[in-house]
Amino acid sequence: MTLVACSVTVDRPDLVSPAIERAMQAKADGADLVEWRVDLLAMLPDAAGAIARLLRDSPLPTILTVRSEAEGGAFDGSPIEAARVLAEAIAGATPPRFVDVEASLLRDRRASDVVHAALAGVEESQRPSLVTSLHDVGGRPTALWTELERMWSDPACHVAKVAWTARTVRDNLEAFDLLASRQGPTIALCMGEQGVLSRVMGAKFGAFLTFARLDDEEGTAPGQPTVRELVDRYRLKGVTHHTRVYGVVGWPVSHSRGPIVHNAWFGELGLDARYLPLPVGPTWESFKASLAELIDHPMLGLSGASVTLPHKEHLVRFVQERGGALDEASFAIGAANTLIIDPQSRAIRACNTDALAGIESLAEALGRASDDLRGLRVAILGAGGVARALAWACANAGADVVVINRTHARAVELAAAFDGRPGERGPMRVGVGDAASIGCGCFHAFINATSLGMKDGPAPDESPIPDDVALDGVVVMDTVYVPERTPLVQQATSRGARVVTGTGMFVRQAALQCELWTGTRPSMISAQVS
Ligand code: NAP
Repeated sequence: MTLVACSVTVDRPDLVSPAIERAMQAKADGADLVEWRVDLLAMLPDAAGAIARLLRDSPLPTILTVRSEAEGGAFDGSPIEAARVLAEAIAGATPPRFVDVEASLLRDRRASDVVHAALAGVEESQRPSLVTSLHDVGGRPTALWTELERMWSDPACHVAKVAWTARTVRDNLEAFDLLASRQGPTIALCMGEQGVLSRVMGAKFGAFLTFARLDDEEGTAPGQPTVRELVDRYRLKGVTHHTRVYGVVGWPVSHSRGPIVHNAWFGELGLDARYLPLPVGPTWESFKASLAELIDHPMLGLSGASVTLPHKEHLVRFVQERGGALDEASFAIGAANTLIIDPQSRAIRACNTDALAGIESLAEALGRASDDLRGLRVAILGAGGVARALAWACANAGADVVVINRTHARAVELAAAFDGRPGERGPMRVGVGDAASIGCGCFHAFINATSLGMKDGPAPDESPIPDDVALDGVVVMDTVYVPERTPLVQQATSRGARVVTGTGMFVRQAALQCELWTGTRPSMISAQVS
């Protein structure tokens, strides 16, 4: 089983006590080990006493690490100086359980002799295990496989460790290949936001351990999850060789709520599946190359993905190029947000659950069936991707749709794409309005499909509906879900509208994805979005 090691940085002797408290917190959160990172402490004259206290008072088995600047740490002394600090700790009354020694240090004959002599001097039952490590914050080490072969063939090396900054999500796959080929206990992981996959799913490939941070800490390497995320959200201890992998593909994806919601549902449904952030650069070429490698990796077991900005149109193109299937909504809208991969045949198909979730949420508030909105007039504010999905869904169900957008030409273009085309309830009716038409008093429902009101968006404090528009009894649906109570939601609630929040639509589109992947629709109430 892959162990969870919580990295705790200790820079000065006076920080030893708080560091011990942090290790206690890590233990309570579910960590198996604590890694004492003493890069700066190791350069101080009184380091030995402080390190001895860290080792003696640790509530968890320890890894002692002095990471050099050359490998992304803060220690700027020579290899022999690092070796002496490690040797003193190894020879102390409470030796660490593991000592991390960089492969480059071991290539320095004098430094290597100092470490090995210290290890040889410790009684076998107390002797720390040697983790031989190689890190490259600049990218994949050129001699990655050669370096690992060297570690595996060294009888003194108990655990081989390589870590590098992922340049694309594809780097994770090479980390998995390294783990699958291991000749002894091995840690292979990718740093950075694009390396989260390796930090969690390395467990599927037999990683010896993975590193984590505490909730309120920066972490010692970018992309490092917290102990609680690994233990609770990703249920790391339950990851097996057979665990199926899902994820959210987009750029960026670090703020996606998908991992929170889908992993909670997988747990609730008792499924051996995990959902990870899969950041893929914004171009079509990046999308095509990354998705193809993820799908075709023989052991990863990617079984599906949520696809978000800016790749929803790319997904349709990708599926068409590979001869896969599209659902009616994806085909009509030209964008999809859900990839489904058949576990046996590996055949792919794409669906658009944004459209279905939007129409279900709207219809519920209107007291109508989601496939029959005949006789209703719906104003769609915005002309981007979500507006397009909802305009099609509403018009397809027979509503009279009016698109109103800041850039009028985009509204005209959107309306022209669907107006007059055949729909479930006869020819679709999609027209265009201007800002003044918002106040016509002729709409049964307004849908905000602009980014207005979105946290960190272009206008977080603004609503797309002017204050003097009567909303009493009208359905007002916001697609923005961060925050849940947007300015529009507050305004519409106070003015007597029947309000649908973006959270409702978000959770519903996610629940539909879960159903497409697993055959079971999860309980929406249980989804903790924030
Ligand atoms: P998009 O394609 O970028 O479209 C953005 C739309 O917002 C455009 O119509 C744009 O008008 C308009 N807009 C942006 N800034 C504006 C401003 N300052 N004043 C007036 N209009 C402005 O984005 P999208 O993918 O459609 O997403 C739209 C919203 O939907 C996002 O806020 C997102 O949070 C939300 N969303 C929700 C869900 C859910 O499940 N609840 C799912 C996906 C997306 P122009 O054409 O004039 O630029």
